[in-house]
Amino acid sequence: MIKGIISDMDGVVYRGKQLIPGAQAFVKRLLDAQTPFLFLTNNAEQTPLDLKLKLQQLGIPGLTEDNFITSAMATAMFLKQQKAHATVFVVGGGGLINELYNVGFSISESHPDYVVVSKTTSFSFEQLKKAVRLIDGGAKFIGTNPDMIDPIEGGHEPAAGTLLAAISAATGKQPYIVGKPNALMMMLAARKLGLHPEEALMVGDRMDTDIVGGMEAGMKTALVLSGVTTQDMIDDFPYRPDYVFQNVGEISLEGL
Ligand SMILES: [Mg+2]
Repeated sequence: MIKGIISDMDGVVYRGKQLIPGAQAFVKRLLDAQTPFLFLTNNAEQTPLDLKLKLQQLGIPGLTEDNFITSAMATAMFLKQQKAHATVFVVGGGGLINELYNVGFSISESHPDYVVVSKTTSFSFEQLKKAVRLIDGGAKFIGTNPDMIDPIEGGHEPAAGTLLAAISAATGKQPYIVGKPNALMMMLAARKLGLHPEEALMVGDRMDTDIVGGMEAGMKTALVLSGVTTQDMIDDFPYRPDYVFQNVGEISLEGL
């Protein structure tokens, strides 16, 4: 029985600055029925407050910061389980640094336990050099999310995966990446909702990230056709979603 929903955002709720039809009705239904739900994003730059304000501006009010999980939060939750009070060197923005502070980590450039990397617009050769030196010296190599590029107005720009690839090339080491499609992120989201994975429905617009991650975490999955994956593409994958909808407006828990 499905008790809660974990939903992707880009291609599900909005596309760029455009709200997707049905998104308002979907969120209103969840709020009215007091269904536990989380919006999940690989974006590690924006905080839950940024995301709440973004949805509010798009015409979806009533959400709280507790309704969101980012790959920065998931990375901090994961690393805290691995080692309490660890030291980290961060290649990333304020959002990620905040989450790491929140779980009791401290920032250090002298023999840190972890080098944690996410997209940051202030990326520099100096940061690259330090990250490589610290990983060569034994720090564990962690990435928030694997996305090589992010869509922006009129095209795309390099994202976390591109920075991880540069550090990999120099160290010969592969990062452990927490964000989608790693099912770990979905499981951390379910735990944040207080649900077992099989009680949660993972909603997303991509077979190769949202649906595979949800499936591997043991969740029910719902593909929406309002984003990247089209109806014709579904059969190209060796796994299938449990449900397919045109958009999130068609999803109601009573109907599943
Ligand atoms: Mg998406």
